[in-house]
Amino acid sequence: MTHQPTVAIVGSGPVGSAYARVLLENHPTAQVVMFEAGPQLTAIPGESVRNIPDPDEKDRARERSQGPLSGSYRESLGIPGEVVVEGMFTARLGTYLLDFGGEGSAHAETFPAAAAATNVGGQGAHWTAATPRPAFSERIPFIPDEEWDGLLAEGERLLHVQSAAFADSALGEAIRTLLDEEFGAELPEGYGVSTLPVAGDPLPDGSIRWAGADSVLGPLIAPASPLSERFQLRDLSLVRRVDLDGDRATGVTVQDLRTGETYEFPADLVVVAADAFRSPQLLWASGIRPTALGHYLTEHPVVISTVALDEERMRRHATEDDLAAELARRATNPADPVAAVNRIPFSEPDHPYSVQVMYAEAPPFQLDPSHPAAGNRWGYVNMGYGVRKRPRFEDGVTFDDSELDYSGFPNMTIHYELTADEEAEIAAATERLTRAGSALGEFVAGPRLLPPGSSLHYQGTMRMGEADDGTSVADPYSRVWGYENLVVGGNALIPTATSMNPTLMSVALAVRGARRAAADLGE
Ligand code: FAD
Repeated sequence: MTHQPTVAIVGSGPVGSAYARVLLENHPTAQVVMFEAGPQLTAIPGESVRNIPDPDEKDRARERSQGPLSGSYRESLGIPGEVVVEGMFTARLGTYLLDFGGEGSAHAETFPAAAAATNVGGQGAHWTAATPRPAFSERIPFIPDEEWDGLLAEGERLLHVQSAAFADSALGEAIRTLLDEEFGAELPEGYGVSTLPVAGDPLPDGSIRWAGADSVLGPLIAPASPLSERFQLRDLSLVRRVDLDGDRATGVTVQDLRTGETYEFPADLVVVAADAFRSPQLLWASGIRPTALGHYLTEHPVVISTVALDEERMRRHATEDDLAAELARRATNPADPVAAVNRIPFSEPDHPYSVQVMYAEAPPFQLDPSHPAAGNRWGYVNMGYGVRKRPRFEDGVTFDDSELDYSGFPNMTIHYELTADEEAEIAAATERLTRAGSALGEFVAGPRLLPPGSSLHYQGTMRMGEADDGTSVADPYSRVWGYENLVVGGNALIPTATSMNPTLMSVALAVRGARRAAADLGE
């Protein structure tokens, strides 16, 4: 009789989905069951909510992703109305703050904007879909460079990455030209101003169907596909524990949130891809407690601004007809106002920032109608400089067995601090952002540093290392040190200081881990 190994995957975001896909494609008989704590939002599991055309339906999908801050739990905490904490800032739509201020909330005074999404597709149902490649020291040095290129190419295939999205937009081109005039001479060959790679499929009307976990799952959720017969997704299924027998994972204990019942699910391999805070929390709750677990937290400090494009400068490189064509194209998809995405990538030694320049018809906030730049015909750009955070043991999340969070797990406390290294790069990034804004037009929101946690790119808390020396949680194939068949996935694996959006890199690491896990299963 053929052995059919069973794999339990915790979390249905892009990384858990990459594990499912690559494992099934690389193993002839394995079966994968994916457990997701949140609800399925869309008919196609894991689809980006940005693709939902109806605004009310889109709002509802976002609210259903907001875990403890949506619906009856929020009411029971007495938190009224919108998702607002202390009147300071709100979580991005579809996400909720870990430190939401009610009973059972995490403690994150020094990392206040830390947020999560709980739904099929994870944060990948809400993301901006920017998918640049890591470069220079962002790459993990013990994975050879040629291998990186192959892994990233496979990640790009799974995520449907387009390197030239909206490249035909004449206004997008004009923005690139103005930025190139300002910065081109300072940037190395191959790392100049360019279009920002994004994950999605171009549609005939010039817009994009944004990719989410659905694109990564691909044939696993396609009707009548042979791989779909070996794949099952269980939503509203909260994994409470990874079950162990010595140094082997024997499966997971799952709570069915529809019935409240808890059951054990035996598995030959367990993959935990439940985000950079909840994955280490689940490991901790299961008694898996390597020294580095939760530590070395990094993200990208972000300096942002909004600029109204200057008509005179734009007219140097684009015509009135170009503007009319742009407006006509955008009118075909009013639900998604992003019309061109540009960037300046990270490069060393002189440009250690990832710059994102999103062109949009309106600013992302209500601009006072009396503002001289209100209703600017040539539109606006939202610009952000992502900066590196150096990994340090003392930055991270710790768990308290004596205080449970809203879902009954050891509660989290996040400690995080910027040092002089980051302060210097933030200051330099702010100066460059001021130059970029002045090259394009007039600031309607000046450069400002967002509160820690705002990037939504949380890394390092289950970092990968070359040796089991206490500074890492997993080996170079993402296997937790000391366990035969326990694999972890997600941005938490990234041990380097990076500035770029991390999902492509994490999917690439998942490809590496899943290929190896498929081989290990076969043995
Ligand atoms: P997630 O997508 O977070 O999925 C983890 C899943 O695990 C969640 O659904 C969660 O409910 C589930 N889970 C947790 N605990 C349990 C449990 N115990 N049992 C069962 N299930 C559990 N990244 C980029 O690279 N580019 C971008 O442009 C970008 N923009 C973003 C914009 C927004 C608004 C947001 C919210 C995120 C953005 N990100 C971006 C980040 C990106 O979405 C994440 O990097 C990516 O989703 C991580 O994938 P993941 O699978 O590791 O985790």
